[in-house]
Amino acid sequence: MGLKIGVLALQGDFREHAWAVEKLGAQAIQVRRPAQLEDLDGLIIPGGESTTIGKLMAQYGFIEAIPAQYKRGMAIYGTCAGAILLAKDIKESDQPRLGLMDMSIRRNAYGRQRESFEVTLDIPAIGEPGFPAVFIRAPYIEELYGTARPLATYRGHVVMAQQDRLLASSFHPELTEDTRVHAYFLALAASRGG
Ligand code: GLN
Repeated sequence: MGLKIGVLALQGDFREHAWAVEKLGAQAIQVRRPAQLEDLDGLIIPGGESTTIGKLMAQYGFIEAIPAQYKRGMAIYGTCAGAILLAKDIKESDQPRLGLMDMSIRRNAYGRQRESFEVTLDIPAIGEPGFPAVFIRAPYIEELYGTARPLATYRGHVVMAQQDRLLASSFHPELTEDTRVHAYFLALAASRGG
């Protein structure tokens, strides 16, 4: 379908996202400069360390450039640290962010005992069977407002949400073989104005 999907390649596990995108037959671009955003259908902001990615984003001009391209129609998917960077409100933090999505998110919400774990998650938007969701020092979404809506919950907390052409997940779909969450995002990126 000739989709062009950028993966923000400043820090974190951007390579795994690029592989998932290519596996689905779309073109994956590793984005290191704002000019590379100009003709993208979608952008993935990977997991990693949100304070580091946020600082680098501010330094390179992405904090202005990404929202500008979002307004133009580019879809955005943030996983884990990427989801934190999409949120308007980050609990107990004033770190740099894009602040595009109407949600309040809590970093490292699962505590030290459960630094990483995998669960089978029910995500009605992608259908059956359950999705193998890997959580690594993951955040959860405490509150959604505006037009943001939940797509999946785990133990009473929202772990995947969507608002128009913005998608966020606490977990890392790029670390498993199951490409359905990436396919969902690619469909969103393909549906301009939808
Ligand atoms: N705990 C990290 C943060 O707050 C996110 C971890 C991840 O992306 N796997 O930025």
